[in-house]
Amino acid sequence: MSAYPSEYELDVVLRDGGVVHVRPMRSDDAAEARTFFQRLGPESRYFRFFAVKQDLTEAEVRHFAEIDYDERMSLVAVDGGEIVGVGRYDRESPGADVAEVAFAVVDAHQGRGIGTRLLELLTDHARSNGVSQFRAYVLGENRQMMRVFRNSGYELTRTIDQGVFTVDFPVQVSSESAEAQAVHERRAIAASLLPFFFPKSIAVIGASTDPTSIGGRLFRNMMEAGFTGPIYPVNPGTKVVRSVKAYPTVLDIPDEVDVAYIVVPQRFVHEVVAQCGEKGVRGVVVISAGFAEVGPEGAAREAELLRLVRSLGMRMVGPNCMGLINTAESVRLNGTFAPVYPPAGNVAMSSQSGALGIAILDYATEHSIGISQFVSVGNKADVSANDLLLAWEDDPATDVITLYVESFGNPRKFSRIARRIARRKPIIAVKSGRTQAGSRAASSHTGALASSDVAVATLFRQAGVIRVDTMVELFDTASILANQPVPKGPRVGIVTNAGGPGILAADALEANGMVIAELSTELRDRIGAALPEEASTANPIDMIASGGPDHYQHVVTELLASGEVDAVMVIYVPTVPEGAEQIAAALRRCQDGYDGDVTLISVFMHFARTEELLTGGRGDRTIPSYSFPESAALALTRSAGYGQWRKKDPGIEARLEPESTDEIRAVVDRALERLGPAGGWLESSEVEAVLEASGLRFPRSVVAPTADAARRAAEKLGGPLVVKVISPSALHKSDVGGVILGVEGPDAAAEAFESVTSVVPDPEGALIQEFVSGGHEVLIGMTQDPNFGPLVAFGLGGVYVELLKDVAFRIHPLTDVDAGEMIRETKGHRLLEGYRNQPFGDVAALETALLRVSGMITSVPELVEMDLNPVKVLEPGSGVVVVDARMRIEPITTPGVRDLPAVASRIPAS
Ligand code: ADP
Ligand code: MG
Repeated sequence: MSAYPSEYELDVVLRDGGVVHVRPMRSDDAAEARTFFQRLGPESRYFRFFAVKQDLTEAEVRHFAEIDYDERMSLVAVDGGEIVGVGRYDRESPGADVAEVAFAVVDAHQGRGIGTRLLELLTDHARSNGVSQFRAYVLGENRQMMRVFRNSGYELTRTIDQGVFTVDFPVQVSSESAEAQAVHERRAIAASLLPFFFPKSIAVIGASTDPTSIGGRLFRNMMEAGFTGPIYPVNPGTKVVRSVKAYPTVLDIPDEVDVAYIVVPQRFVHEVVAQCGEKGVRGVVVISAGFAEVGPEGAAREAELLRLVRSLGMRMVGPNCMGLINTAESVRLNGTFAPVYPPAGNVAMSSQSGALGIAILDYATEHSIGISQFVSVGNKADVSANDLLLAWEDDPATDVITLYVESFGNPRKFSRIARRIARRKPIIAVKSGRTQAGSRAASSHTGALASSDVAVATLFRQAGVIRVDTMVELFDTASILANQPVPKGPRVGIVTNAGGPGILAADALEANGMVIAELSTELRDRIGAALPEEASTANPIDMIASGGPDHYQHVVTELLASGEVDAVMVIYVPTVPEGAEQIAAALRRCQDGYDGDVTLISVFMHFARTEELLTGGRGDRTIPSYSFPESAALALTRSAGYGQWRKKDPGIEARLEPESTDEIRAVVDRALERLGPAGGWLESSEVEAVLEASGLRFPRSVVAPTADAARRAAEKLGGPLVVKVISPSALHKSDVGGVILGVEGPDAAAEAFESVTSVVPDPEGALIQEFVSGGHEVLIGMTQDPNFGPLVAFGLGGVYVELLKDVAFRIHPLTDVDAGEMIRETKGHRLLEGYRNQPFGDVAALETALLRVSGMITSVPELVEMDLNPVKVLEPGSGVVVVDARMRIEPITTPGVRDLPAVASRIPAS
């Protein structure tokens, strides 16, 4: 009997956007099991039991509900308090790694994808429970079940005997099954958010006649934006709000209500939400405050509210949010109480801060940045930025996704989703606030090196998310990516009518790694032909103060068509009163005559409004405009960096061979048992076994408990040796004189033993190890970030690594591309490439070692910190050797470590 696996208690969003609660079966489900069986239609019963049964026998009921979570595992799907689906697996015989899997879903809930979800979760459990293969017996007529198996992406083997199919498949994650799960997840989440963005009808509960109140402002905004469906004000205190008939409760509305906005005082929220559930409302936007943001009591209320929303099969935006907007012409939904309604466009925005949300909408409106959809997620008890990313991934109206993030709910999921979406649509994020460093393990070199911001920075970079520091920078960058082609390279041409700003721009661009392209003589001649003598045709092209609209048009047109630059930055400093407007109009003409892939941006160092002139009409590109060359340069650099990331091969994630994983698991499982619930450091023989099974080389070593044993070990090993103390208190052995190098012969080994064991209070013996000569010393490490999961570190310098801090980090898992980049990212990597007559190092073997380490981390989610320090990188062809390794493991207790896909979000433990 294993413990009740509470990490499998979760809410799952289905294909139709509905939500069911899934949890492991419990023994007290027995009574419900019988009624579940009766609710199954006759056909489902037949499919499940291959016989038309009327009822379950006592024994069958017991068998059904008696689950030990090891030999037998069962999950139930609960909707509206009733079990509507059951999925289970039973090992074929005790301890077998093949298990029979089966499902049943009541007729009314078939086709929602419940079977698919249960299968995903059962395979996940099976993997962590030593089951490697599922077998199902399916009647030929049972198409539904066959479809579930086919859609899973697992590689099926089918055999048929007397109308019964035997379906076999390995439960190991494959790229196909991962892809299939990702697609199911995306569709389900997007479907569940659809009512929020495209509601057929809306109720505003708390719509007020007081135009200054939030309920009054929200209702007015909705009416004024011209929402295309009906809006029903709900307010028990009045008969009419803004000439619209009001209803005392949502239940009194005679028509269907798709989405309800809730703006009532906090103490009424619960009751009102319950009424929405009864009414059949699909989503609620809770604007009311007084929840998690006010402290622990509020947090408890919020958890309670979420449970209610989920149990009613609804989704919720907020609480404590500002609402949402969809500018699509077919919807025209202004569901916020903000005073501005932004112009329609292709930028989607999620904001975690309500107040800032207003400022954002204001700024976007001021700068003609068009918004497709805007969501203020508030406390994001249910709908999170992750959900919105999934919704916007396939939204045709959205080309650029922008996020204002204060905290991550599920950063691992964010990283997985963002990596995929950013390949298609740019994601720009402002991350404010400090990440909680939490209880990050710091008793290792790697832990000490990883500051709290390292994880966020790494996450964003690896996922291709463009990170900006301020809201203004966010819009500066969005403005390029929403309107112009992504720069396809670093070459920039600058056109200006004043030298100073041109130099400022050039400096800012070059400092960020962009290139001020050297123009060909032919191009310079063509440009010069239309310019005055004194103008400079070298990049930056300075047309001097007399540069007018015709000069600009000529030069910009030439540059765009030249093929010598990837982006053109046009700068104008006003010289005549009407200058800016004239130049803007000239640029507009340039752009209208050009639809190639060079990025065009402008800097108007002046007050007048030129944006309208620069804004494209339908189907025309808008030319982004900035007030200073530095901000334009920064936005351009970020856009180009994104383009570079998108072109890059994402690489292939490292995984160990299944046999290696089995070997490693055997060692780790034994160690977990030995160490108990608190976990602890692996013993040196265990470390060696794990490294070896991972394909990492460790010098031949013998653990010697006594001087005599050391003597015998030296005889056995031969050659020059290293003697190291084994002691729980000596974290860094050489610091205290616990390591003696170059020991020759048995007598010397015994002597070294005495010496190293005398420097610590608690010696347990010594490790007698083969001496590995030569090579560069590097560190490969791993630390668990409480929010982001495993971080992998690589650095040069061996014992000096903490001093030099020349370390590259990646969030686990690594791809082959990551491994190569991590090494090249460190300043010291040139030491491995023969810098100043240094010996070359086996960089290829080092890359493989990094990948093997990452594969090992995947196989051991219990690993909390690890230092391989040093790893000796020998000369090319000779490989790498880990000469010192420490690993600490802890049993997994927190849910979410396995990061089950297809899960909207978990109900926080109450
Ligand atoms: P600690 O890190 O606890 O001080 P190490 O086992 O890393 O102990 O040993 C300290 C240093 O001794 C290493 O950084 C390395 O330079 C050297 N060293 C350790 N083991 C070997 C070995 N087997 N062959 C060669 N040099 C070694
Ligand atoms: Mg060491």
